[in-house]
Amino acid sequence: MSNYRSHIWHPFTKFSALENEGLPVIERAEGIYLFDQDGNKYIDGISSWWCVNLGHSNPDITHAIKEQADTLQQSILGNLAHSGAIQLAEEICQTMPDSNRHVLFASDGSSANESALKVAVQYFHNIGQSQRNKFVSLTDPYHGDTIGSVSVGYIESFHKPLKPLLFETHQLTPPSRSEKQDYSAVEKLFNEYGHEIAAVIVEPLCQGASGMRMYSPDYLKLLSETCKKYGCLLIVDEIAMGMGRTGKMWAHEHAGIDPDIITIGKGITAGYIPLSAAVFKDKIYRTFNDEGEDKTFYHGHTFAGNPLACSAALATLKYYRENNVPEQARTKGAAIQQELCALEELDCVKEVRSLGMVNAIELQSSEQTRQVKASLLKEGILLRPLGAVIYLMLPLTVNEDEIRYVIQHVKEAVQKL
Ligand code: PMP
Repeated sequence: MSNYRSHIWHPFTKFSALENEGLPVIERAEGIYLFDQDGNKYIDGISSWWCVNLGHSNPDITHAIKEQADTLQQSILGNLAHSGAIQLAEEICQTMPDSNRHVLFASDGSSANESALKVAVQYFHNIGQSQRNKFVSLTDPYHGDTIGSVSVGYIESFHKPLKPLLFETHQLTPPSRSEKQDYSAVEKLFNEYGHEIAAVIVEPLCQGASGMRMYSPDYLKLLSETCKKYGCLLIVDEIAMGMGRTGKMWAHEHAGIDPDIITIGKGITAGYIPLSAAVFKDKIYRTFNDEGEDKTFYHGHTFAGNPLACSAALATLKYYRENNVPEQARTKGAAIQQELCALEELDCVKEVRSLGMVNAIELQSSEQTRQVKASLLKEGILLRPLGAVIYLMLPLTVNEDEIRYVIQHVKEAVQKL
């Protein structure tokens, strides 16, 4: 455990937690395991913030990165291209329902969402509808930490001091899967504000950071149809739920829709090197031409489409194709859910829910999740509860024995409450 008074500013970490719980210093990782400086071994129950979907030290990916490092480690995409980015953009588009798309690379999920929001507004300006500059998001959303993504992802307890900087966003509350499916608020909102809305931005089917809150594919389908009806765009943020996590390559596939803009990140490189992207339909891209008026999108990050990151992503997509990773996630996730749902009989459990390899248990209080987290840490299982919700986001490559170990200890920890 290191002294918490280091020079690092630890993200999303309370000072009190640093003082009371200490800080494991991770030295290496393999498969689903992290190893710290003191020789402790932990199961990475949250895939290192939901990105290490293929586990750590996957030789196919590390080999691709090493080879790339010997050839071309950085080159920009402004007025230049490189073969890794060309191939990756094509492969990404081919995974999507309509592949006639264009990929704007960035390095983290927040920046991908930021570009999606900016493009949506500039797109409507380009086509002479600049009154469309408002957004709709879901309540308790999370789309990243930049000012734009915080504006559409406003959470009072996190962002109150920043409020003067943020733009106003309409919000809709999707009924959870266990509630009555009343969707009337959608039409009501669009009836009133539809003319000024540029885009709706959503996490598809599961709102991760707000406690793995799940809503039905029908609701997403309705949002997609409503966007079409009112002439605005649908941005689907697949940064957390994409890349097979929910049992399909992209979570929006469960709803059978074809979003205008899809943002991706985290697992696109299996978490080996930062890379993200916003993927736009051709009808949007085409309007950014400079025929007559200059409508170029003046936006781009230094490391956008970095060759090392592209090589990691290409190796990741190859691994997905060869091992049918989304299918594995579907089967393993269903097996975990079957084991965990028995916990619903306990008084301390409000709900057990799952979507592919997102497995969540909602308890009655955050004090209970704190206790479960502490018990599991003693068994070498590292989790990060969200309020009263504990969840597993294990690497999708986790094996049966490892699943059995985790399930047994999660059950015991909850039963002990
Ligand atoms: N969107 C969603 C749905 C996320 O879960 C996250 C990160 N947890 C982000 C965006 C932001 O990604 P990043 O942390 O890479 O900026």
